[in-house]
Amino acid sequence: FWSKVPQGPADPILGVTDAFKRDPSKSKINVGVGAYRDENGKPYVLDSVRKAEDIIHTQQFLSLASKLAYGADSKPLKENRVAVVQSISGTGALRIGMEFCSQFYPGNKTLYLPNPTWGAHPAIADKAGLEVKRYRYFKKETLGLDFDGMKEDLTTAPEGSIILLHACAQNPTGIDLTQAQWRELSDLVKSKRHLAFFDMAYQGFASGDVDRDAFALRYFVEQGHEIMLCQSFAKNLGLYGERAGTFSMVTASPEEKERVLSQLKRVIRPLYSSPPLHPAQLVATILGSPALYTEWLGEVKKMADRIIAMRARLYDILLELQTPGNWDHIKSQIGMFSFTGLTPEQVAALAEYAHIYMTTDGRISMAGLNEHNIRYFAESMSKAIKG
Ligand code: PMP
Repeated sequence: FWSKVPQGPADPILGVTDAFKRDPSKSKINVGVGAYRDENGKPYVLDSVRKAEDIIHTQQFLSLASKLAYGADSKPLKENRVAVVQSISGTGALRIGMEFCSQFYPGNKTLYLPNPTWGAHPAIADKAGLEVKRYRYFKKETLGLDFDGMKEDLTTAPEGSIILLHACAQNPTGIDLTQAQWRELSDLVKSKRHLAFFDMAYQGFASGDVDRDAFALRYFVEQGHEIMLCQSFAKNLGLYGERAGTFSMVTASPEEKERVLSQLKRVIRPLYSSPPLHPAQLVATILGSPALYTEWLGEVKKMADRIIAMRARLYDILLELQTPGNWDHIKSQIGMFSFTGLTPEQVAALAEYAHIYMTTDGRISMAGLNEHNIRYFAESMSKAIKG
């Protein structure tokens, strides 16, 4: 088709640059093109443009991250009354939220933590100046949830206390409330005028479905609770070192949101001044690109399913080896961790005789097990139990 198309002449301006590039002289100067160059002859990216880019990325990140947590149809998000800031992963979010409560919460400045909870919670609360108390969560006898104890403790807590709730895949027990129990708890928290402070470090890891894992949070929001939320991307995106996260709170109005935001920024200023850009860009790019988002959802499911499969394998082998005790909890527990019920002595024996390491409370990270090591692990565990 195109064999007769003649070669066009060089562009009168761009041709100048071509000639300049070809010239090997050290003293060459190009004054042919009207693009600004700085003192060193380099192209100049204006600082204002760089700052605008940073703002775009940060805003996209905050908006996409909140949608992931609260759901695209979330009423307070649509009504522009969720105050959200970028945090240094989940830990940083907890610190911001607790500092904010310590300064501004008008109720009882006591934080109720589940017993047991993630080890860093009490220290973060303490540094932020909140008093810490516990509510019952785990029942040793059944290796399950002590829902009655939990309700009793949250009922006797002074009205308007701050209640920390693991949104899903409770760490360390791997035991979550059922949806019916969350509904009941929402009524209790409302009637006691408590503040629900959600820690969501494992969205997607419990069921493999990010929407399902956000049930508790979204239900509380639907019920009109003005909740707080700490969101981490460390686990569900595998971004442990990037420190990507958000802290957010549902407020009563866009105007209240602005006031709250101004104070959140004042909490952040002396802590880390402004958030890192790269994690925000990474997360915003994944959540904002339909193809990458779909791929990511698939990967979250794959990670969660592998963990669920390992639970089933461990359970089966423990039964096959006729290990004394009931092991249903291995399969019914949720998320990254399992609270095995191993005693500190059995944990020590596993380390000494089998080179298997776990925290002394008998918590195991299911993610550390795989087809290659599960049998050795189960056999060693069974031996330790049989004594
Ligand atoms: N909350 C809980 C319950 C956790 O288990 C973790 C991580 N172990 C975090 C918050 C915070 O993790 P990160 O700061 O790495 O996001």
